[in-house]
Amino acid sequence: VSPPRTPLHQWLGLKLGLGPGREPDAAAIAAYQLDRLRATLAWVRRRSPFYRDRLAGLPAGFPGDLGDLARLPFTTAGDLARDHLAMLCLSQDRVARVVTLRTSGTTAQPKRLYFSDQDLELTLDFFHQGMSTLVEPGGCVLVMLPGRTPDSVGDLLARALARLEVRGVLHGPLGDPGQALRAAADQGADCLAGIPVQVLALAEHPEAGRLSGAVRSVLLTTDYVPRALSARVSRAWGCEVFEHYGMTETGLGGGVDCRAHCGYHLRGADLYYEVVEPESGAPLPPGREGELVVTTLTRQAMPLIRYRTGDLGRLLPEACPCGGVTPRLDRVPGRLANRLDLGGGAWLPMWRLDEALFEVAGVLDYRAGLRADGRGRRLKLTVQAGPGERPGLAAQVERAAAALPELGRALDEGELTLEPVEITRAAWASDGTTKRTLLEPAG
Ligand SMILES: [Zn+2]
Repeated sequence: VSPPRTPLHQWLGLKLGLGPGREPDAAAIAAYQLDRLRATLAWVRRRSPFYRDRLAGLPAGFPGDLGDLARLPFTTAGDLARDHLAMLCLSQDRVARVVTLRTSGTTAQPKRLYFSDQDLELTLDFFHQGMSTLVEPGGCVLVMLPGRTPDSVGDLLARALARLEVRGVLHGPLGDPGQALRAAADQGADCLAGIPVQVLALAEHPEAGRLSGAVRSVLLTTDYVPRALSARVSRAWGCEVFEHYGMTETGLGGGVDCRAHCGYHLRGADLYYEVVEPESGAPLPPGREGELVVTTLTRQAMPLIRYRTGDLGRLLPEACPCGGVTPRLDRVPGRLANRLDLGGGAWLPMWRLDEALFEVAGVLDYRAGLRADGRGRRLKLTVQAGPGERPGLAAQVERAAAALPELGRALDEGELTLEPVEITRAAWASDGTTKRTLLEPAG
């Protein structure tokens, strides 16, 4: 039995302007994207001083095809911090929302992004269609995302759900898990949408049973989702777990998996994704992993041309088992920069440590601190433990880490030592606007 087709398939057909009964296919999607790309390039060159300079001297008829995009310079997080006003394509009174994003590093200026009413409407529409993958009219979603500010992610999601005749109850990021569980039960929520580690804390809370049989689906979003974490949430409530990939730069919505759960169906009408080799910036073919680069195709206020996301990713060349033909992205394993220097030229991407540690029962979250000084290179893991007695948790975590071949080798070769694992009961706060920073600054 094949899984139900993603609703984003038909949605894309409508966006492409295909008549009734006509299905989108790869050629129709590419033709639409090329058309939108040309319109976006014309728009930014007319309206934005930043892009007018940056894209001066393009030959007539550019781009001839989507591959030509690779000849244009990248836009970076630094550009969003320095030149946001010069990137703006509308007068400021037509900006409906400004988002200021803190970036890592103490000296870094914040990034700033601008959205028009039309930009926000396109996000609402994507949330509406995307959520129809996992909830049905009459349902109720507890939205555990920031939503107090108008047009914030939680606010937009709740409004999108209303279009689907689903009740979106805005709860906000997790504070007191017991209270959140009671709220979900009182409201009759059959779906939860939240930050991965916060939903895990809820799923393994002593009162999680309140939602057994009630919660049928969960959407994990705003951060990378370790496979092991997703499996634990699914086991706790016997529910289906979906993942959403997006960032403020993609207009919050980016892509969501379908019921086949093998990669994200991308918001192909509004976004064009490339994957490039991180060092050289050379484009990589579908199937190869590299840095995700995104170009907006419909953004009005502040379009992005070849924005380097800093995220690792891989486009999936093969068709989805659900039959939906939107462009697809493999699950995103995290930030390129989020990796441990094991010494001797060896590196460990943090997503590998994530997968190993979230396999350990009782680990709700963790941080890694790497120190290199006269005593060599030392790795300190601090683990947030779930409720109940957890004898032997520190030893289990240590074994799970050392079982990673890269880490085990560095330990054997004396490049690295593992300090005693520290166990804490306190959760690291997250307001859902920043990704988990696993790597603590060395101190
Ligand atoms: Zn699918």
